[in-house]
Amino acid sequence: MLNIITHPLLTHKLTILRRKEIDTKEFRITLGEIAGLMAYEISRDLLLHEITIETPLGKCTTQELAADVVLIPILRAGLGMADSISNLIPNSRVGHIGIYRDHKTLEPIIYYSKIPDNLSDAVVMVLDPMLATGGSAAAAIHELKNHGATVIKLVCVVGAPEGVELIGKKHPDVQIYLAGLDEKLNKNGYIFPGLGDAGDRLFGTR
Ligand code: URA
Repeated sequence: MLNIITHPLLTHKLTILRRKEIDTKEFRITLGEIAGLMAYEISRDLLLHEITIETPLGKCTTQELAADVVLIPILRAGLGMADSISNLIPNSRVGHIGIYRDHKTLEPIIYYSKIPDNLSDAVVMVLDPMLATGGSAAAAIHELKNHGATVIKLVCVVGAPEGVELIGKKHPDVQIYLAGLDEKLNKNGYIFPGLGDAGDRLFGTR
């Protein structure tokens, strides 16, 4: 199911991220801020459990996070979202999946996969700023299900209808979160109007 997160701060920061004139530093900072704002919304349903602690004045029965949160940035642009979310959820575990597209078959190929154990009770957040064709995200989700993941949230910043449709078809159980749903993919597979190549803009590689 598609969830578009709307908040004036998020919309404003997405506008900054889309601007072609911002430099690597501003792109990196803004992407992190957007990921943090999205995580705030997405974590609304995380489980808490009751604990009793001591304040300077005495006992306080309160709650703390009980959920086992696992972050899976898809290399490489997903790395730009992982730090800010793990700062908000410091006990989160982090795995990495690297995927490229085979030039001939256009199939996504997983070239790197390091995934934490015991995913069956975890809330697994797959991080990738761009949901374009959806091929990489679908392959990553498939890999995570093979590792036992049952609750998977796909967290992207900008999406194209084509990617949303593919995930909906292949993984109807997965919640998709976007800050913006754009018009289409262009003929080169980029999201239009989008924000360009997120990995290059994040790492200053072009
Ligand atoms: N990946 C990107 O970085 N940008 C797009 O527009 C599509 C895929």
